[in-house]
Amino acid sequence: MPEENSLKEYKKKRDFKSTPEPSGKKPSKKENPVFVVQKHDASHLHYDFRLEIRGVLASWAVPKGPSLNPKNKRLAVKTENHPLDYADFEGIIPKDQYGAGRVIVWDYGTYKNSSEQPMKKALENSKLVFFLNGEKLKGEFALIKMKNSEKNWLLIKKSDDHASKKNPLKNKPESVLSGKKIEEIKKK
Ligand code: MN
Repeated sequence: MPEENSLKEYKKKRDFKSTPEPSGKKPSKKENPVFVVQKHDASHLHYDFRLEIRGVLASWAVPKGPSLNPKNKRLAVKTENHPLDYADFEGIIPKDQYGAGRVIVWDYGTYKNSSEQPMKKALENSKLVFFLNGEKLKGEFALIKMKNSEKNWLLIKKSDDHASKKNPLKNKPESVLSGKKIEEIKKK
């Protein structure tokens, strides 16, 4: 179960009578921790990178999206924790709501912590290293907080067999849930 208050900021920002986003009531049932990357066409297009840590999705907004090329260090701005059931949210956040715009699940899968510390501790210590097993993103990645910054982190692909110069953001733009491109998401 989420720790008390870990979703406070998420809930404060949203009116669940108006937005189709989940309110975070469902508890976790999965065995392996999940990760999700959501493509979000808000005021600025970005990719939300989320890792399950202690019952919530720790979240970063990545303006340029993740890269499989270890040379690309991608800015990842820490945002509020999201509930676990957000991981399969796809739809349209209404105009009057925080983060208004279309959302698709661009990638989804499980991950393994490759650091020696538990994820929560590694998060507090500003350095996460983990192995992703998604449909588009695979292999080891690091998320490292920038010095003298409150919210800015860097998302970096580690060098391994899964490192690549291919750009899945361009080559595979569609949702792993619905197969739809973000432009194809319509109001229900
Ligand atoms: Mn977002």
